[in-house]
Amino acid sequence: MIKIAVQKSGRLYEDSLKLLKDCGLSVEDGLDTLKAQVRNFDAEVLFLRNSDIPKYLEDGVADIAILGENVLIEKNVDIAVVEKLGFSKCRLSVAVPKGVPFNGPQDLNGKKIATSYPHSLQQYLNKHNVTASIHLISGSVEIAPNIGLADAICDLVSSGNTLFKNGLEEKEILLKSEAVLAANKKSLAEKSVLIEELAFRIRSVLKARKNKYILFNIPNDKVAEASQILPVLKSPTVLPLLEEGWSSMHSVINDEDFWTVLNKLEKCGAQGILVIPIEKMIV
Ligand code: ATP
Ligand code: MG
Repeated sequence: MIKIAVQKSGRLYEDSLKLLKDCGLSVEDGLDTLKAQVRNFDAEVLFLRNSDIPKYLEDGVADIAILGENVLIEKNVDIAVVEKLGFSKCRLSVAVPKGVPFNGPQDLNGKKIATSYPHSLQQYLNKHNVTASIHLISGSVEIAPNIGLADAICDLVSSGNTLFKNGLEEKEILLKSEAVLAANKKSLAEKSVLIEELAFRIRSVLKARKNKYILFNIPNDKVAEASQILPVLKSPTVLPLLEEGWSSMHSVINDEDFWTVLNKLEKCGAQGILVIPIEKMIV
């Protein structure tokens, strides 16, 4: 059996559970429990604090986990990242009050910096030969400069909205992070079959999320041109329509290219274009 750790509550909770469910694992949600059995997969889900997960992984309490990559870096643990998961994207940045001049890391010399990520910040300061005092705060770091507790902060940013509301400006990006599937290295060797099975399912779900199934009608003499426009699959499916001289083309396209492709297809003469989400994708 594998023990899978996910965040008990917080930013990662919903997306983590959704991912496991999309992979076909039936998990009860963890609101009242710390541990849930998976009925149809040889696994147990542990609901834990994101910041505690690196240690639990390292100790083998959990075999694998979904957590923010930044906490793996912060806790400096020897853990394998199996898969990047594409959600909870953020960056760890240094910010200073608006209007305060900042020309580079050297300007942090002798300053007080508030953060919840002291290890990552210290590494950055060391790299730039800067001496500053780090004030460890566990939450609401962005208010520290306003209340005179610090000159600068080092915190996670995604849209930058919280910084903006608190009159702060992002100046330096220390690292980029997203949710990852991480594993205890010993578990990875000893429970490779189960872990690989789950990783395989995760890859197919993530791939499917990035793609759309597209079908449309097109005059026969435009089929070749339309095939050039569709970038993803080896070769599109072409089926004859009942109406003479027309075909139905089916293919898969990358979500990012969607609008460009759509435009080109319309110009090429495509009609009745349907776009459908894909649930799983194994190629
Ligand atoms: P816990 O309180 O469970 O120990 P935490 O304080 O790290 O953990 P959250 O604030 O829920 O919990 O953040 C979880 C993860 O989500 C972070 O480690 C980071 O990877 C990501 N994250 C944090 N802030 C942001 C943000 N502003 N935008 C996007 N992702 C973020
Ligand atoms: Mg927290």
